[in-house]
Amino acid sequence: MHHFFVEPEQIENETVRIIGPDVNHGKNVLRMKPGEELLISDGTGQDYRCRVRSLETDCILADILELEEASRELPSRITLYQGLPKSDKMELIIQKAVELGASRIVPVVTKNTVVKLDAKKEESKRKRWQAIAESAAKQSKRSRIPEVSQVLSLKEALLEASGKDVGFFAYEHQEGMAGTGRELSKVGPGQEIAVFIGPEGGFEKDEVQAAKEAGIRPVSLGKRILRTETAGLTLLSVLMMKLEMEER
Ligand code: SAH
Repeated sequence: MHHFFVEPEQIENETVRIIGPDVNHGKNVLRMKPGEELLISDGTGQDYRCRVRSLETDCILADILELEEASRELPSRITLYQGLPKSDKMELIIQKAVELGASRIVPVVTKNTVVKLDAKKEESKRKRWQAIAESAAKQSKRSRIPEVSQVLSLKEALLEASGKDVGFFAYEHQEGMAGTGRELSKVGPGQEIAVFIGPEGGFEKDEVQAAKEAGIRPVSLGKRILRTETAGLTLLSVLMMKLEMEER
């Protein structure tokens, strides 16, 4: 079943109006026909099962058949604060983080960040990253499109994350899994969760100190050094499984 995201105002009287680039995509790429069923998300977490009524020049009209009761979202909001990696690794990280249920992805500049993004480059990257988040959300049938935020400094990111319920600062030189276990045991539904991952060069000691001062615990992800793209996905997978298991 094809999946579209619309704004709440595109839904009126049991009818959904699909507009914009989705119209051409639906008609000419997906070759949708009247009678075909669709999944529509209004971006607020509500999904609808719909049936195509007609394909017009500037819109596709679909009738709502049923509200989807079960949201496909995790019961907690996870923000991935990702140290900006080299080349196009960020694209893979965003795609996978969205599949694993992250609500928001924040690219973070740290001491060991190599890439330099000026304002113009950042804006074009951010657009591309947001488009990747959207297509991953559709592919994995999420009810919401996660936001890829503007690039923050580590200081700004820590300040933002210090207000969250649970925080993990993945630190490659952290010994032992006891701290990881303690932090994981706090995880439950209805929370705001922060996950920090360093870039290829890792975090510096003073950055770990700053995280502690912001109340975010440095945690180990095991005895092996993981690549930056593996580290975030590892922690997100564990959080996703834990949250899904506790929900029922
Ligand atoms: N260059 C560093 C490794 C950096 S790995 C070194 O060789 O020591 C990139 C990021 O992934 C780290 O900053 C950390 O956030 C995360 N990471 C990788 N392996 C980890 C581990 N075993 N425990 C905790 N975090 C880890």
